[in-house]
Amino acid sequence: MEGLFFKDNMRGFCSIIQKPATSMDEVLQNVGKATGLIAQDMHLGYVSLLLSVPATALRNKIDNAEYVIYDSKEEYTQAHRFEFRTGDGGTAEIKFHSLKGHDWNEKELEEVKLICYMMYGAFRQVMLEGLLRRSIATDMAVAIPNINGYMQYAGMLLAKGALRAYHAIYFNIQNFKYVNQVLSHTAADEVMKKYAAHVSGSTDKDEIVARLGGDNFVALIKNENVDSFIKTILNVSIEYQVENDDKKFVFGATIGVSDMEGVMDPGQMMLRSSVAYQTARQNNSRLVYYNDSLLEKIMHEKGVMTEFYKALETQEFVVYYQPKVDTYTKKLYGAEALVRWKQADGTLKPPMEFIPVLEKNGSICKLDFYVLDKTCQLLSELIREGITVKPISVNLSRKHMFNPQLAKDIIGIVDKYALEHSLIEIEFTESEDFRDYIVMSKVIDELKDQGISTSIDDFGTGYSSLNMLKMTSVDTLKIDKSFIPTEEYYGSNSKECIMFEYIAKLARGLGFKTISEGVETSEQYHYLATVGCDIIQGYYFDRPLPPEVFVERLKEPDYYIKK
Ligand code: C2E
Ligand code: CA
Ligand code: CA
Repeated sequence: MEGLFFKDNMRGFCSIIQKPATSMDEVLQNVGKATGLIAQDMHLGYVSLLLSVPATALRNKIDNAEYVIYDSKEEYTQAHRFEFRTGDGGTAEIKFHSLKGHDWNEKELEEVKLICYMMYGAFRQVMLEGLLRRSIATDMAVAIPNINGYMQYAGMLLAKGALRAYHAIYFNIQNFKYVNQVLSHTAADEVMKKYAAHVSGSTDKDEIVARLGGDNFVALIKNENVDSFIKTILNVSIEYQVENDDKKFVFGATIGVSDMEGVMDPGQMMLRSSVAYQTARQNNSRLVYYNDSLLEKIMHEKGVMTEFYKALETQEFVVYYQPKVDTYTKKLYGAEALVRWKQADGTLKPPMEFIPVLEKNGSICKLDFYVLDKTCQLLSELIREGITVKPISVNLSRKHMFNPQLAKDIIGIVDKYALEHSLIEIEFTESEDFRDYIVMSKVIDELKDQGISTSIDDFGTGYSSLNMLKMTSVDTLKIDKSFIPTEEYYGSNSKECIMFEYIAKLARGLGFKTISEGVETSEQYHYLATVGCDIIQGYYFDRPLPPEVFVERLKEPDYYIKK
């Protein structure tokens, strides 16, 4: 085979072997064809490729296969072996046999070696591309597809017109936090891997489960299997051994499900299942099925959130002050700070349109501190101007109870303006359960120690038990407007009056100050005065006022006496 590299056939070999291929089959065909061209010149008997690739995150089974590249169908000699690494921990071996009766000399062997390198180059290209494609589509930590793999698969189903036969499921593992608390990082990763393998193993082969990151997963499940898949992920138990100690974790899930009615692209599919999931999370429910109204609601909330951060920066939030009046002297007693969103076009957005949205994700805390800050700022400016000020109460959402430094943060803001602590009062709404109550009590005590008084807002509508009243050191109860009896009941022995009067009496008896809010008529005012309510707040005296009008009231504390 003198001068093989200059022969025409060798040129043919080169041009075929360099043809781009996208699959193992295709490259085998090319290499086989190319080898056929030079086989005679080389005295080739038989050529084969042996692949041994271990199972990895990218390949769920060991791949041991032998491919025949060239077979002269004649007798051949012993093999010359060439070994390569595959790039994913495996090996590839190419074996060359010359025809019986022709042993390659040293120079020929050099050429065989070069041919072999060229061949492997072609295989390597296809294998690396496959590896790259799979690694882009795989979550390496848990060895199942990632979002790319998921979207690709959905795109493929959609193109085939088969997506309609599936439901998209978006789910989050409940209580995985606990695993992170009791196990090391690596051990927790192992448990996650087992979880992924378990869930993914419970599906049919044309279904897919993918990990989005953290403990969030998505799945495409055939319509007829949806119920059983949901049942599976609502109760996954994973056993794990740590230092000879068998641990068993049982996981539930928060799940959003969507069918594919009218879904036009994979993005839309993803959006729908994630909207259903977000709704489930917000409502503390385990399972929510998508419908269009859920999407509208979330879009509205998203809109509020993006606008919210802009509005905080551009100072679109203004604070109004609603006067509180001493029931008996009719003198101005103080005020409540109530936030307003003054939008660029001048309209005032009422708090009920945005506060519930901000409550949901905790952003309300930022706004509450903003209102506290503005209130302190106003008071300190007025004091500097020599105006006699009154205490102002500020509403704090229950979301603040997650802040272990709450009392410190509040005092920090008040002290920034060097205000006397007694000028600020904090309104909390009733706690939701006993644990919440313990945290709130602690904050109330800390504030009291620092001379900041507190009140329970909307008293009577929440969960506070009479026992809590016995224990709390809160100063004031704001009796909710829904408890104030309307005129037709006055003087009667109606349940409305009995309830209200007992609440007022109980509160007084336990040493709380009482405020009635939402007082609108002079009849209500007189009734409240006779039953002994200390302070009145409501449209009867004043609506929430912009700061400049409120300042006028401060300057004229007898304003309400003529009423
Ligand atoms: P709230 O704390 O119970 O505030 C009293 C609400 O009753 C205010 O509504 C006030 O304008 C309204 N009101 C006052 N007098 C009368 C009356 O005579 N009749 C009637 N029908 N209503 C009266 P507003 O300002 O719309 O606030 C609604 C709620 O929004 C507040 O209820 C409070 O829960 C929340 N909120 C307002 N500002 C803030 C804030 O800065 N932070 C937090 N966390 N919540 C706030
Ligand atoms: Ca309030
Ligand atoms: Ca209230």
